[in-house]
Amino acid sequence: MGVLVRSAARQLCYAARAVIPCTWRGKYFSSGSDEPAANNRVTPMLRHLMYKIKSTGPITVAEYMKEVLTNPAKGYYMHRDMLGEKGDFITSPEISQIFGELLGIWFISEWMATGKNVAFQLVELGPGRGTLMGDILRVFSQLGSVLKNCDISIHLVEVSQNLSELQALTLTEAKIPLEQNPESLVYMKGVTKSGLPISWYRDLQDVPKGYSFFLAHEFFDVLPVHKFQKTPQGWREVLIDIDPQVSGKLRFVLAPCVTPAQAFLQHDEIRDHVEVCPDAGVIIQELSERIALTGGAALIADYGHDGTKTDTFRGFCGHELHDVLIAPGTADLTADVDFSYLRRMAQGKVASLGPTEQQTFLKNMGIDVRLKVLFNKSDEPSVRQQLLQGYDMLMNPQKMGERFNFFALLPHERLHGRSHHINACQSRPSASPVAGFGELAWQ
Ligand code: SAH
Repeated sequence: MGVLVRSAARQLCYAARAVIPCTWRGKYFSSGSDEPAANNRVTPMLRHLMYKIKSTGPITVAEYMKEVLTNPAKGYYMHRDMLGEKGDFITSPEISQIFGELLGIWFISEWMATGKNVAFQLVELGPGRGTLMGDILRVFSQLGSVLKNCDISIHLVEVSQNLSELQALTLTEAKIPLEQNPESLVYMKGVTKSGLPISWYRDLQDVPKGYSFFLAHEFFDVLPVHKFQKTPQGWREVLIDIDPQVSGKLRFVLAPCVTPAQAFLQHDEIRDHVEVCPDAGVIIQELSERIALTGGAALIADYGHDGTKTDTFRGFCGHELHDVLIAPGTADLTADVDFSYLRRMAQGKVASLGPTEQQTFLKNMGIDVRLKVLFNKSDEPSVRQQLLQGYDMLMNPQKMGERFNFFALLPHERLHGRSHHINACQSRPSASPVAGFGELAWQ
């Protein structure tokens, strides 16, 4: 692993990133605030939701999030590029190339530690602009001698047609036309700039089964959450209704009686307000089953907590915190990921590691070595400044260093020294430490 980091660090290639002025979504903001409604207009999404509420009654927060973010006609993610300076928020891969490079090394390191399988699928959930995958694939190319003879394919799970086209622009070779078929489960196919097959799906279920590494960066936080409030009458779900006092405005209300989603609450819950994300549970179960069956690993990075936080539902628009009920469809909606819930949903089928703070994970992955190499190889003051600013944003505990966490799912065998697969290309089975979650083992 240490050899890998040094080898990757030696390769010089600076990939320019946006200037870093912006808001990251891990910033905390309590929902339902009294913030002035800067953008209090009736959007097509608001009109749609009001019709819905008028005809069938108040909706759950999960239904609201799902409609606002991924409704095929008007959803926030469906028709725009929300990332970066001109968008609504910025993410780690958009800040510094080093982030994706170190994740690329993590996957190679896990592939090596589990016996160098002859082939693997790299599957990313919610790839945004494709920047993170681009950085990972650059590392794969740079370490081509390590990966030679390994058959790699890339699989992207993305609901937004618009973002999938941006991902294709970032990742694929322009000279080779993309195959598109909106009716198919694999709605787009192509070849990456480094010659690997790449396919797009709307749902993880549609990705072929097989030895895979999974990646989800700032993906779980956009999945819909149900919210519950403890009251003297017991737990009540938070719903969204039309405000009878103000025309064209929504408001939070409490369900008058028990709702079906309350089945997701823990019997011994001690908090008085809880957010639960059943969609995240379904995805974790799918990942766990696949990893238990065929090996591989999942790396999940997001802002979140370990079952301690309460009301984290918030919105972002133009790098500002935004009231979640105002002008729906124009702002991103997000809630902190509850890693204790993800761990529970793995149901013991696989082992889990983390959550580990981003600053610790990246330090263990060798971010300082990589920064030094890139810094020393560039004479350009603006490049050097950008590298330092990017490092500070990712690592500073006041910025993204503490709020963001890494969490991994691995086959039990990975932590106990037995190799999952036996095939001709495998070398020794290994129980070496999992990179990032512990100090690097210098070879
Ligand atoms: N991982 C990227 C982008 C994060 S934004 C980064 O860190 O920069 C969230 C991403 O998840 C977007 O690509 C969005 O379109 C996608 N997404 C949101 N809901 C989804 C769903 N239900 N299924 C698949 N992709 C989804």
